Parts: sequence; C-alpha cells; structure tokens
Amino acid sequence: MCGIVGYIGHREAYPIVLKGLKRLEYRGYDSAGIALYDGTDIKLSKTKGKVLDLEHKLESEISTHGSLGIGHTRWATHGVPNDINSHPHYSNSGDLVIIHNGIIENYGSLKQELISRGYTFKSDTDTEVLVNLIEDVKKNENIKLGKAVQIALNQVIGAYAIAVFDKNKPNEIVVARLGSPLAIGIGEDEFFIASDASPFIEYTKNAIYLEDEEMAVVRRHKGVKIRKIKDDSLVDNYIQTLQLNLEQIEKGGYDHFMLKEIYEQPNAIRDTFRGRLRTDEAIIKMSGVEDNMKKFLNADRIIVVACGTSWHAGLVSEYIFEDLARIPVEVEYASEFRYRNPVITDRDIVIAISQSGETADTLAAIKLAKSKGAFVFGVCNVVGSSISRETHAGAYTHAGPEIGVASTKAFTTQITVLTLIALRLARAKGTISSSEFRHQMIELELIPDKVKKALESDDYVKSIAEIYKNASNFLYLGRGFNFPVALEGALKLKEISYIHAEGYPAAEMKHGPIALIDENMPIVVIATKKGHYEKVVSNIQEIKSRKGKIIGIVTEGDKQVRELADHVIEVPETIESLTPLLTTIPLQLLSYHIALMLGKNVDQPRNLAKAVTVE
Ligand code: GLU
Repeated sequence: MCGIVGYIGHREAYPIVLKGLKRLEYRGYDSAGIALYDGTDIKLSKTKGKVLDLEHKLESEISTHGSLGIGHTRWATHGVPNDINSHPHYSNSGDLVIIHNGIIENYGSLKQELISRGYTFKSDTDTEVLVNLIEDVKKNENIKLGKAVQIALNQVIGAYAIAVFDKNKPNEIVVARLGSPLAIGIGEDEFFIASDASPFIEYTKNAIYLEDEEMAVVRRHKGVKIRKIKDDSLVDNYIQTLQLNLEQIEKGGYDHFMLKEIYEQPNAIRDTFRGRLRTDEAIIKMSGVEDNMKKFLNADRIIVVACGTSWHAGLVSEYIFEDLARIPVEVEYASEFRYRNPVITDRDIVIAISQSGETADTLAAIKLAKSKGAFVFGVCNVVGSSISRETHAGAYTHAGPEIGVASTKAFTTQITVLTLIALRLARAKGTISSSEFRHQMIELELIPDKVKKALESDDYVKSIAEIYKNASNFLYLGRGFNFPVALEGALKLKEISYIHAEGYPAAEMKHGPIALIDENMPIVVIATKKGHYEKVVSNIQEIKSRKGKIIGIVTEGDKQVRELADHVIEVPETIESLTPLLTTIPLQLLSYHIALMLGKNVDQPRNLAKAVTVE
C-alpha cells in the first residue's frame, strides 16, 4: 500500500511531490511526509493525517526550496500512525533519508543487530531499520549509496518499493522494488519516481516500470541505470509510452471519485468489450484466450483466485462459466489458497483477478499455481501491473483508473471480461447454440445503456438512504447470479459507511440471519425476474412476517415485490447472467449516499487502501 513519489531535475521539487502525493493518497492516507534537499541540507516535515494536513504543517515549518525531493503517504503496518512513524525516515547520521512501501519481515533481527552496533531508533517502523542497515553497510564498506542499498537489500526478507538519497550526494536518488510497484518517469533532463504514473503524467508520457528484484540509480543530468539486486547484472531500460491522460485521474466535476466511477460504468463496460464483442460477425475476439484455446478447452476446471470485490466478481463468474461453458469452477480467496497446499495440476486454469494487478496475496497465489504447472490467466485493470506480467496470458478490463477506494467500475468490468471469456469458450465447446450465443452478445451490447438507465434511480436511492442511514445493521440477500451481488452490496456499505452489513444467499437466511430480523432491520433483496424469482418472493414474505424493512431491487414493471416491499428500486430487464451488471448499481449508490449523509470520507475510508500490496 502507500504511495511514494520523488523528483530530481531542474524544477522546484516541492509542488511536484506534493501534488503527486495528493494523487497517490488513495493508496494510503494515515500519515504523510516530504524530504527536500535545499542545496545544503535535507529539509524534512511529516505528520499523522492527510496530505492536506502535511501541506499546512510543512509550509510553516520548512523552506520548500530544492530541486530534489521525496514524499510518502503511509498505510501503517509497523507502528501506529503518528508523526514519528511517518515517512521519510532519517538514518542515525542524518545523511540518508528513505521512503518505503511494503514490509521488511526480518526487521526484528536486523534491528537487534544494529542496536548491538550502537544504532538507536526513534520510530517503531521496519523502514527505519532498513535505512540504518543501508547506512551501516555504506560506512563499513566505504561504498557508494547504490552499492550499499544493493547489499542491504540482499539481507532483507519482505516486500518493498523504496527511494533513498544521501545529502552528501544530492545528485542521485536510489530506488528499488520487490513486490510493490515503482515507476520512473523520464522527462527532459528531469526524472520522476512514483508508485504509479499518475504523479507525473502531465510532465512526461515516458516511463520505466521496475521489475521485481530490480534497483535503479537515477542521476541528475545523467539518466537511469538499472541493475538486478541479486547478481548486480545490468538491465536494459525499457521505456514505455503511457496511455493515461490527466482527465482520467481527476474528479471531472463530481464531488467524489467513487461517484464519478459509478457514473463511468456505462462507458467503462463499453470500453471493456470494445473490439472484442463483434456482434455483426458473431465472434468474440480476445487474444489471450484465442492464443491458448487448447489449454482452455482441455482444462479439467477453472480456479479463480482473488480478494475483496474481485473475489465477488469471481463468484459471479462461477455461475457464468458453469452455466454457459460447462466448466467446473472453484473460487478461492487468494490469501487462503496460497497457504493451504491446494491440489493443482497442469490441467487446471487459474484465473487471477485484481483491479490494481498488485494485490500481494493474489500475486503469491499466481506464483504457487505456476510452480504446480497450472496455466495462469490474469484479469486486471492496470496495464503493465505485476499480475499482468506474472501471468501466462490475460485480459485487461480497460476500465480506466479507479481511484475511489471502494471498487465500483472494476467490479462491473471484471464481470464483463469474464462473461466474454465464458461466452467465447461456450461457443468453442459447443455448449451453447449459435442463436443463443448471438442473443447473449446482443444483450451484452445493450448493457451500457441499461446501466445508464439504472443510474436514473439515483435520487430515489438517495431518499431511501435518508430513511435508513442510522440503521446499525443491514442484510443483503440474493440468489444465483445475484448472491455475489448481495455480498458486494454489503461490502460496499461496510467499507465506506462503517455500518455492519451481511450478504447472504436468500434461502440461507432461514439458517441463522433470520433471527436478526425485526422492525429495525433494513433488508436489501435482489429479486429480478427470472433467477428463482418466485423463491425470492417467498423469502420476502418470510421477512415481512417478521416486520423487516424490505428494499427490493426489481425488474422494471415488477408488481409482486412492489406489493410486499417497503421500497422497490427498478433496473432494466436483461438475461439472467447479466443481471449483476445492473442490480449492483443501486447498491453502489445506496452505500455512497448513506456514507455521505453520515459524514464519512467516501473516497478514503478509514483503515483501507486501494492497492493491497501487503499480505
Ligand atoms: N512498513 C512501513 C510502515 O509501516 C511502510 C508501510 C507502507 O507501505 O505505507 O511504516
């Protein structure tokens, strides 16, 4: 988690680093700090709280002059969020200063060793241990910073993206990565460092993404030299041209990124199937699937590994793959899968889903599956991310940057990609007829407009939010394809409003949660036509008999649920497998409005971070 940013060049570093931190704040936001080199010394300011708090503090505390700077926005792993634990961290001599994203797992033993050599520590962080380890190596061996970083990192177990500089050599920043992302922007005689490209997109479109176990020395006027941390071998600079533009990472008139991203879904879904869904020709084209068709067709089963919202998208895909392509599917939490010696063979396809493509547990699950011979296919949003590089093949969701911490368009575009894959395989396997295939394609093509229609319920959803915003618990129920949507609806509410919510298969309610129902309990029930409609109506009757407050998500024109429910929110009609793309919309809006009415920070909910790069 956490965002790191750095600059070395001919401009003032402070405004670039500060703006960069604001852009990266979605990655972690419990504290922030900046260190600048002003021509003679390091100026450092850091604080618990948001980047805005840092800005207020810093400008009254230090001079902001200097053409070299690094900054950090933290998601605490070691030590509570307070001023002292915030980054950057000095080494004992005060010569070196570091920012770090990740965890140094063996920091305890390293710390003890450093203490025995006379080092002292101000903070509780693992990061302060690392900067002193680098200092110790540098002093003992009388070597340059780059070499010292390399030797120190070879003693480290864990994950990191770091940037460090030495006030006695203020013409270089040394960076390195293992498990956490790090990009270097290449400008005209200036260089940018960041966890993703958003901090430097207005200055340059040229970037190098460091690979795991690589480090780079970024030198003023001279350029970037990349080496392998383990064996010191030189690596060629592979400069990529970024596709990202500035509008995509700004709020564009919306109050919050989350709302912007909810409203972007019609276009995001269209972008996901653009060029792939070719209804006129009755084909679906996805090179990652096409090139590996034999593997897919011979697969005994598909294992989906993911976390959080992506896991919910994986659950939806279980229904879709089994229904359309008749391939058995298992959906696993990546964090469980990686540690339980799962049975995997070379006839298994593992599909790894992650918006950021950096999720640490999912990456570890991929490595495990690969080591056991499985073919691994990635579904992620961020182009060039670790997962996209670590997998054998994959498909991007093309949703555009998702910045709100609560995932919205990532979920619907992941379902879209997975539907395309399932349809393509179904056709290749002959498990659906050509007319059914065509029908499904036409329905998918209509989804963006139907999502737009579903968004029209916004004001009505807001009025429902007003009624239930003070509830202490919510229940979300759904069946079949919409059971995972119930889970996702509950997760959205928990994440941003901090109201306890549970998602459940509607029929399972009888086996426990029904005991919770009374006149104070709002229950969101997804009850679209098709998909066990009559069964869900019976479940609604059961809730009504116990005086629960019913918010029904129904198909346009529904009458039966309307008679029973306290409120109904309509979504357009579609085929059953595509209903999750519509039913999820009002649930996103409901959580958004409730959180806002409760005065919560919608885009940066407490304790969460966007890209979960620690396990
Ligand atoms: N482990 C470091 C800390 O707790 C870095 C955490 C982060 O990635 O923000 O300070």
